Amino acid sequence: MGMQNVPVLIVGGGPVGLALAGELGWRGVPCLLVEQGDGTIVTPKMNEVNVRTMEFCRRWGIADRVHNCPFPRDHARDAVFVTSLGGYELGRIPRPAVAGVKPEPWSPMRLQTCSQMWFDPILRDFALSSPGVDLRYRTRLESFEDTGDGVTAEIVDLESGRRERVEAAYLVGCDGATSAIREKLGIGLKGQGVLGHPLHLFFRAPDLLKRVGKAEGTFFLAIDRDGLWANIRIVDPVNAMWRLMVLDSDGRQTPESIDKDALIRRAVGRPFEVEWVGCSIWTRRSLVAEQYGKGRVFLAGDAVHQLSPTGALGMNTGIGDVVDLGWKLAAVAQGWGGAKLLSSYDRERQPIGVRAIDNTAGFHLSHGNFHSGFAAIEDDSDEGRALRAYVGPQLVRQVGAMFRTIGLQLGYCYEESPIIVPDGTPPTPDDPENFIATTRPGSRAPHVALKDGSSTLDFYGPGFVLVRLGADAPDGAAIAEAAKSRGVPLRTVTVDEPEAAATYERKLVLVRPDGHVAWRGDAVPADALAMMDRVRGA
Ligand SMILES: Cc1cc2nc3c(=O)[nH]c(=O)nc-3n(C[C@H](O)[C@H](O)[C@H](O)COP(=O)(O)OP(=O)(O)OC[C@H]3O[C@@H](n4cnc5c(N)ncnc54)[C@H](O)[C@@H]3O)c2cc1C
Repeated sequence: MGMQNVPVLIVGGGPVGLALAGELGWRGVPCLLVEQGDGTIVTPKMNEVNVRTMEFCRRWGIADRVHNCPFPRDHARDAVFVTSLGGYELGRIPRPAVAGVKPEPWSPMRLQTCSQMWFDPILRDFALSSPGVDLRYRTRLESFEDTGDGVTAEIVDLESGRRERVEAAYLVGCDGATSAIREKLGIGLKGQGVLGHPLHLFFRAPDLLKRVGKAEGTFFLAIDRDGLWANIRIVDPVNAMWRLMVLDSDGRQTPESIDKDALIRRAVGRPFEVEWVGCSIWTRRSLVAEQYGKGRVFLAGDAVHQLSPTGALGMNTGIGDVVDLGWKLAAVAQGWGGAKLLSSYDRERQPIGVRAIDNTAGFHLSHGNFHSGFAAIEDDSDEGRALRAYVGPQLVRQVGAMFRTIGLQLGYCYEESPIIVPDGTPPTPDDPENFIATTRPGSRAPHVALKDGSSTLDFYGPGFVLVRLGADAPDGAAIAEAAKSRGVPLRTVTVDEPEAAATYERKLVLVRPDGHVAWRGDAVPADALAMMDRVRGA
C-alpha cells in the first residue's frame, strides 16, 4: 500500500469539493481531492450560478469563463407560467438575457445561467491551475480515522485497485447527500425530510418554442386541469437540450416504467416527437445537518444541507460553505489561525444552512396552493378566461418568489459567530426579495462601484483588509501592528469616495479574507490586539 501526506484531504468532486480544492489551491494550501466518478455529468442538476457565487468566481479569476459558457448570452431567461407549452400563457417573469442585464447597485456580478455540465469543468480547471492541488477521479475513500492530531484515510484507485494510505491534517467531506462521512461521524439531519419524488426527463427538441409559438424563455411552469405539475427548462439552447421535471410522483417509478411520451404530450399539450437523452428520479428533501463536522473532519455542500431546488440555493450555499472554511484552513496551515478558528465554521455556516432549507422549502410549498380547482383552466370559455386571468398574477406573486431572491443570495450574516466583533446594532431585516447593504459585523462587505471602474469587492480575498473610508479616517496603524505581531496578513486601503463612505457606514471597516465584515468602528479599538485575536479565532 502506498502512502501520502497532505494538509487537506477532500472527498467528493462535485461542484462543492471542486470549489474547495480551487479555493485552497488559490490560497497556496496543498490538497488531495478524491472523486469516485470520472467527472462525466450525464444528467446535470444545477443551472443557476447565483450572484454571490459569481462574486467568488470573480475573485478566483474565472468569472469570464462562466459568463462565456455555452449558454447563449442573448437568450432571454424569462420564467413563464403556461397551461402547457403549446397552450395558454398565464404570466411571465422577465429575466433578461445575460447580455442585457445592467449592473445592479448591489454587485458587480449578475446571476449566470450555466449548467453543471459546464460549471463543474470550469471549477475543475480552476482547481488544477494550482500546482498544490492533486485531483484524482475514479478514486474512492474507503475508510478514515480521526486520530486527534490528524486524519488517517484509506483510498482506492477504482481502475487499478491500488490502495493508498493518506495522512492528512484535516478531512473535508463534500461527498453529497448520502455522505458516508457524515454517517460515520454520527451527525444527524433535521428538517422537514422528504418533500417529494420528482422525475427528470432530458430530451432534445430543436426549435421547440418556435414550434409551439411561445416567446423565448428559460423556465416554463405548467399548470393544467390537475394543477401545477411540472416545469420545463432549456438547459442547452445550442444543442436544443431540455429538461422536463415532473414535480412529484408516487416514489415507485423506475426509468423503465415512466411513460415518457405521455408526459411530453401533457407538457406540450399535444403529441410531440423528441429525442430522449436520459432520465433520473430523485428525492426532494429539506434537511440540514446538526453539526458541520467533528474534530478534524468537516462537511460541506449537500453532505450537510439538502434543499428543494426551488430558489437555486443548493450548490450556491455549498460554495458559500467552502469559501468560509477555505480561508480558515489556510490560516491554520499558515500558522496565524487561532485554536478556535476552525470550529467557527459550524457556528457561522450551520444557521445559513437552516435559512436555506427554510426558504427553499417555503418556495416549494407555495406550489401546493395551485393543486386543485383548475378544471376549467384550459377551456376556451368565459370561466376558463376568468380563471386564467385570476391565476396568472397569483402564480407570479407566490410561486414566482423563488426567482426574486437577491436578499437570500447576498443578505446572510454570521450572527452567532464567535470570531466577529458585534457592535450592538440591531440585525438588518433578512428579506429574501430585497437586499440591504450594510457593514454590520458578520455581513458581506458591500459592493461599491469605484471611480476607476473596480469594485470594493476586488479588495477582498487574500488576507484581511482594513478599509479606511475617507482621507480623514483614523490611520488604523494600531490594527495593522496587531495583525503584524500575530502574523495575520492584512493590508490597509483608503477609499475617498462619498458613496463608499455612505455605504460602509463607519470610518474603519475590517474585512476578512472571505469578504465578511469582522469589525467596524469610527476609531481604532482600545485593545486592537484583543480584537485581532478574536477575529483570528485565538
Ligand atoms: C433539479 C435540481 C436542480 C438544481 N439546481 C440548482 C441550481 O440551479 N443552483 C444551485 O445552486 N443548486 C442547484 N441544485 C442543487 C445542486 O445540484 C447540489 O446542491 C450540488 O450538486 C451539490 O454539490 P456537492 O458537491 O455538495 O454534492 P454532489 O454534487 O452530490 O457531489 C458529491 C460527490 O461526492 C462523490 N463521493 C461520494 N462518496 C465518495 C467517496 N467515498 N469517495 C469519493 N467520492 C465520493 C460522489 O461521487 C459525488 O460526485 C439543483 C438540484 C437539483 C436536484
